[in-house]
Amino acid sequence: MIREAELKNINRINWEQKYPDWKDWKWQVRHTVRDIETIEELLDIKIDNQHKKHIKRTIEKFPMAITPYYLSLIDINNYKNDPIFKQAVASEKELIISKCDMVDPLAEDEDSPVEGITHRYPDRVLFHVSNVCAMYCRHCTRKRKVGDKDHIPNKEIIEKGIEYIRNNSQVRDVLLSGGDPLLLSDEYLDWILTEVSNISHVEVIRIGTRVPVVLPYRITDRLVNVLKKHHPLWINTHFNHPKEITASSREALRKLADVGIPLGNQSVLLAGVNDCVHIMKKLVQKLVQNRVRPYYIYQCDLSEGLSHFRTSVGKGIEIMESLRGHTSGFAIPTFVVDAPGGGGKIPVMPNYLVSWSNDKTILRNYEGVITTYKEPDSYKATSCDLNCDECKLTLNLDDDKEIKALGVQKLLSDYDETISFTPKNNERIARRDNG
Ligand SMILES: *Cc1c(COP(=O)(O)O)cnc(C)c1O
Repeated sequence: MIREAELKNINRINWEQKYPDWKDWKWQVRHTVRDIETIEELLDIKIDNQHKKHIKRTIEKFPMAITPYYLSLIDINNYKNDPIFKQAVASEKELIISKCDMVDPLAEDEDSPVEGITHRYPDRVLFHVSNVCAMYCRHCTRKRKVGDKDHIPNKEIIEKGIEYIRNNSQVRDVLLSGGDPLLLSDEYLDWILTEVSNISHVEVIRIGTRVPVVLPYRITDRLVNVLKKHHPLWINTHFNHPKEITASSREALRKLADVGIPLGNQSVLLAGVNDCVHIMKKLVQKLVQNRVRPYYIYQCDLSEGLSHFRTSVGKGIEIMESLRGHTSGFAIPTFVVDAPGGGGKIPVMPNYLVSWSNDKTILRNYEGVITTYKEPDSYKATSCDLNCDECKLTLNLDDDKEIKALGVQKLLSDYDETISFTPKNNERIARRDNG
């Protein structure tokens, strides 16, 4: 088991004393560390020359950027195994391109109707409003864009994105992402949030940000006063290891939660960082202590340069097995594989359904207890023909909302005649056509 003491930052350096502007987020951004020599200097460590040469070669392809704050969390006595070091400092292993690697594994660029928007799901869009990050995570799924000056979206591109959302009334949830949206200025962010929330069909806005983890001082009173004007606003952050939950990051989370922003967390399962049931359990428990609801654990994507971070999918399932039943239900995220090729997030978990018959479902719990749920003999499902006026349930759908079954839901629905899906280029069907 991990002892609490090991999770504490044991570095002796008093950073705030050494750098009086330490808690000024703009000072942190101005002093972003981009080379290995500065890391050695700041942490007072000596990295051997061979290793340094490898790091420099990697940075040429995948640039490095680390906030002094995040760097200060590294345990200098054991930096090679440190989860912060591994997420922040370039490694020569990033240059290994494996056979399954892809530049854009989630096909975000292909599912993009206008620059900056990825429209994958029916009712929500991903809106890339910033290409700037406080820290370049070594495991970034958008590694293809990191440090790429060409992709900084200007106001014109953002306006086109807003226009797209305005013209597509099915979009009820807009997810601001990047880059990190919280690296934009308060005024610019206020403008984007105002424009998006003024669109009548947008019901909720979300921001995905790693700022509470790598630059907690960015969460200023001024910023939270801007954010709270745009409710309902949700924020998802990205803690991967309990060590990242420090006094400063707790303070940032407190400020966000205090203005009524529901907080979630998305972690990435990373080999050598958090591929451990004890670390993950500690992480989710610390998150809920700070009013953050664990939302997703992602299987590491197939992006180029991430092969050394990838675990088996089974490791994630093992982690889920160790959480459900063992800790508070609201501390348990959903483990997902983001489908290569752009299918979206697919949840995976241990099997709890052992068997079933006509009227019995056999389930097992986290202890291995096998139980029977006897189903009612009298249940008569309400069949749906989309005629709400004749229905005993009381939804009364708006007339303007056209209901259309999609995907597997279509096969289950009563009002759609589809009974099967056949893959494109199916050889059996081709034989029919040729025969
Ligand atoms: C993750 C993601 C979303 C949001 O998915 P949720 O499951 O609703 O959190 C939306 N669009 C894209 C392209 C995504 O990758």
